[in-house]
Parts: sequence; structure tokens; C-alpha cells
Amino acid sequence: MMKTNLLFPIGLFGLAGAVAAIQSNAGESRANEVSKPFAKFSSKVKTRSDGKNFYVESNGIPDHRMMAGITAWQQQVPLPQNYTGSNAWQFPLYPVEAKEPISAKDHFFRGAIAIAANGIPIFNPIKNDGRTDTFLAGELDEFGGHSGRGDDYHYHIAPLVLQKELGTSLPVAYALDGYAIYGLTEPDGTSVKSLDSFNGHSTNGLGYHYHATKKYPYINGGFHGQVSEVDGQVDPQPRAESPRPATAPLRGAKITDFTSSKPGTYSLTYSLDGEVYKVNYAVNGDRTVSFEFVDPKGGKTTESYRYRGGGRRGGGDQPERPQGGRPQGQLGPPPGPRKPWFVDHAKELDANKDGEVSKEEVISQCKEAFKGYANGESSIDVTKLPDLPTVRNAIGGFIKVHSKELDRNSDGKITEQEIIESMMRMFDKQDKNHDGKLSGSELEG
Ligand SMILES: [Zn+2]
Ligand SMILES: [Zn+2]
Repeated sequence: MMKTNLLFPIGLFGLAGAVAAIQSNAGESRANEVSKPFAKFSSKVKTRSDGKNFYVESNGIPDHRMMAGITAWQQQVPLPQNYTGSNAWQFPLYPVEAKEPISAKDHFFRGAIAIAANGIPIFNPIKNDGRTDTFLAGELDEFGGHSGRGDDYHYHIAPLVLQKELGTSLPVAYALDGYAIYGLTEPDGTSVKSLDSFNGHSTNGLGYHYHATKKYPYINGGFHGQVSEVDGQVDPQPRAESPRPATAPLRGAKITDFTSSKPGTYSLTYSLDGEVYKVNYAVNGDRTVSFEFVDPKGGKTTESYRYRGGGRRGGGDQPERPQGGRPQGQLGPPPGPRKPWFVDHAKELDANKDGEVSKEEVISQCKEAFKGYANGESSIDVTKLPDLPTVRNAIGGFIKVHSKELDRNSDGKITEQEIIESMMRMFDKQDKNHDGKLSGSELEG
């Protein structure tokens, strides 16, 4: 009797221990398998697993050239991100089929939907306005990436360039539901047959997996597996951080080159109206980032920003959401060489040629430009604006380039009031001595 009593619990523990060991071995081998594509980029990417989730850490900067080829640019640049520790990327080690799979056609316009083998997130190819195909719109570089509002580099299509390291046998990415995303062929190089609307299918050996395609949806077009959606994005996922305020679109600019002489030091080259500009920038040891903007004549302006920590602003493209509040005071310096806008346009604005720009002179041009575009209506229709002949004064040009920011309540219409308020906000910033006119040093670049 005593013997049995002693033996019984030991037997139980023994069994439980064996089961735990088997589970942990299975977890390990699944984690091993999942880690293979990431291991090809082990100098930049670290992975770990807790048996439930798989975690991917990186600094968000890929090894390949970035940004070159973009023709629709918002003036963001790639800055290193801190995707480590509790801010790492994650997905379930064992994907679970969803009862009701969610399409990315009308969901997940914020944040990433997959993580590439090199530790760079992949976002929905449709951007946060819910309709623009970022690839077709010229927003992506030669490898399918660009920088978001957090100066965070990410892809919007499958980065097939990684197949140089991966071959076809390894996935190029994992969707955030835990299913692998392979390239344009099956791992053995044979052609892909019968994909579902999410670019996925099941095959012997691999089970369910997604594929990259050259047309929409380019990557996983939704989630076959379970994910949790919070505020329009897969949750949890890391935050990106940029120390500088959001920047505005620079229409007509084409990014022609991007180089990095050493980690943390970058140079972006773009052309605009046939002239060449450079943005040189460096991430410094003291958590500052210094920018140098070089104009076609070699003139330089500099800006410096300090990281505050704690994820000052979300990355990705999220603040572009039409319903999202736009940060204040964003009208700042206009595109190109970053002389204050009023300095560049002082001559045009100084109607009475007294060498000073008064508030009245600016407001009168605002009214004139508004009248020219509104055509007797009470507001300017933002969608029709690009086709209207440009009103030939400084503000007329400004309104065309900055229509989105001028439409402060994002209703697709610009009122005279909105124009005057925005211009006055810029004016007050430039009017350093607050005397209601721009003169002397206030008009020097
Ligand atoms: Zn993006
Ligand atoms: Zn397949």
C-alpha cells in the first residue's frame, strides 16, 4: 500500500514531465523552422520564442538601398527604430485558422500586416485612405518600401529582393497571423496554383501559406488566421518613433539615390524641376538627429532634433488618415530648399514695394487667390483644384501645393478663412518681433 502511494505520484509527475518535454521539443522545432528565413539576416535581426509567440527584433533599417525610385514623396526619410524587447514584432508560433477571416481590403489600413525576413514590417498595400494602391501611386522605392510618418521604413508589397539571400525555398516574410509568405513560386520552384482571395492556399507538407504576387494584393490580402484588431491595426505591434514633426508631400520630386557612408549616416538625393537636391542626415550618439538640406546651388540649411523617447509619434502612415487629427503647426517650411516660405516669396508679397511684408498684404493676396479658385462658390473644391489654372500670386501657388494641409477640418473644401488662418499662423512664426510686419532680418534666409 505504502509502495503504491509513493509510486503513484512519481508516475504522474513522470508522465506530465514527458508531455511537457514533447511540447517543448515541438515548440522548439517549430521555432527553429520559423527562425530560418530571419537567420539569413542574423547580423541585423534577432529572434526568440516563448513557445506561444515568435518575436523579431531589428532596427528597421534594411541592408539594401532605400527610397530610390519614389515619385510620390512626403519628405520622410528612414530613421533607425527600436524594435526590441517589449517593442519587438510578434506573431503566433502556431497559427490558428480564423472562423471569420478578415480581408485587408477594408481592414488593417494602419500598422503592419506582416514582418519580412530582414526585420522590416510590411504594411497593407492600400494606404490608410482606404483606396490608394501605394505601388501604383509611385510611393514605393525599387524594392517596395518607403518611410512613413514616423520616419519608419516599411514595405507595402512583398520584398522579393530578399530572395537573393533566401532563395525560393524560404518564406520572404511571416504574416502577423503566423502563416508564412513565400515568393512568386512554391519553395521547390514550381508554379503556384489556385490562390484564394488572400493570396493563400494549402499544399501537402506546407499546409496553409501565402504567396507574393506582382499584382494586388501583392502579399497576404487579409488574415486566414486569427489576429486581434484594435483601432484598425493588428494588435499588439511595436511603435515607431521620429524626433521630427511630420513633413508634407513634395509634388514633382523624384528620389534618385540614397547612400549610407556608415551606420546612422545617410544621404538622399532627389530631383525637382530638373534640379538636384540633397538631404544629408545623421543619427548622433546623444540621441539627436541632424539634417542638412542642400539646394541645387550648394546652399545649405540645417535642422536638428532630439528623440524624446517613449514613442512620441506612431510610425507607419497613420496620421495621414483623413479622419485623424493633423498635428498643429505643420505648415512650416515648404518643399525644397528650406528657406522660410515668406523669405522666398517676399518680393511677390510686398505689393507696395516698401521692402516690408505686412499682414494686410498677405491677407489681400489670400483673398485674391481664394476668389480665383473658388469661382463664386463659398469654398474651393480640393479635388478640382489641381485642374484649375494657377492664380498668379505667391499664395495662389502655395494653395495648390498645400491644399491638403490648408483643408484643416479635412472636409475636402478650403474656405477663405482656412487660408487666411494658416497663412497668419506661418506669418506669426516668421514675425519674430511681433510687430505685424516682416522686415529686416525676418526676411533674410
Ligand atoms: Zn507606408
Ligand atoms: Zn504555395
